[in-house]
Amino acid sequence: MVNRQTPSLSFEVFPPNPAVGNEKILQALKEMQDIAPHFISVTASNNKFNIEETTVRLADFIYNDLKIPTIAHLPAVYLTKDRVSHTLQALDRVGVHSVLALRGDIFPDVAPKDDFRYATDLIAYIKEEAPHFDIIGACYPEGHPDSPNQISDIQNLKKKVDAGCSSLVTQLFFDNERFYDFQDKCTLAGIEVPIHAGIMPILNRNQALRLLKTCENIKLPRKFRAILDKYEHDPESLRAAGLAYAIDQIVDLVTHDAAGIHLYTMNNSATARHIYQATHTFFDK
Ligand code: FAD
Repeated sequence: MVNRQTPSLSFEVFPPNPAVGNEKILQALKEMQDIAPHFISVTASNNKFNIEETTVRLADFIYNDLKIPTIAHLPAVYLTKDRVSHTLQALDRVGVHSVLALRGDIFPDVAPKDDFRYATDLIAYIKEEAPHFDIIGACYPEGHPDSPNQISDIQNLKKKVDAGCSSLVTQLFFDNERFYDFQDKCTLAGIEVPIHAGIMPILNRNQALRLLKTCENIKLPRKFRAILDKYEHDPESLRAAGLAYAIDQIVDLVTHDAAGIHLYTMNNSATARHIYQATHTFFDK
């Protein structure tokens, strides 16, 4: 689904807390429909919410009601093989046959289950249990935080791809040079599947602060830091500069033949539309 000659534009959305309800996200998704993204991926909670009631339900809506190709995320470190089989069957029933196979973060106070230590274990299991599924993997242009160095991370990524990934989606990044360097290293390591670049537009101060806290390994270029500093207390300018920065990144990436852009929309259809309007000429050809 995600292997193409021209770059693809795809979106990521997340299911809201079930207590909040789906009304807002369903509306946002309807507003994204006429952009016709190449696919939408739906994140999944790692340990907090039931994946069938959240991710699978939303994936069902995107795939069957909006007719947009859909990828369901599946973090497995806190799942048993039975639970994973159950989720794959639920996806099968609604016709969604693409999975972003993930380990998921390990929380220090919650012991992992024994069945899936790494994403590679999950991929091997899906290949056996449901070989008709398309499997996508996650990757980290600036290294995964658990890895001692980028070399071992890329060696593990090679094992993951060999286990059965048809493509990869990156963690968000703000420095395209890091992405190009990573791509080159993947090629040297024999990783030949398409790599979709994860781009997150920064739209407000809280989002920026959260990001700075959780993504210590991600380089923030001087140009990006200047935006955060200068417009910290000017929400309108911060949003405008954040969107412009993301658009600039995307133009550079497609010019350098990136396989695709995966936009972390934060469920915001106005953001997706704004970026699409500024860049659609690169994706529609
Ligand atoms: P893995 O590929 O298993 O890698 C984890 C670490 O283990 C790495 O350091 C790797 O180098 C190392 N490793 C891998 N294989 C081996 C091996 N055989 N031997 C030794 N070391 C090994 N999380 C969610 O909870 N829900 C989501 O919906 C979600 N969506 C995401 C989408 C994208 C595009 C990305 C990039 C991340 C997403 N995450 C999500 C976060 C992800 O779950 C975490 O980053 C997690 O810590 C790693 O997951 P992984 O599948 O990349 O792990």
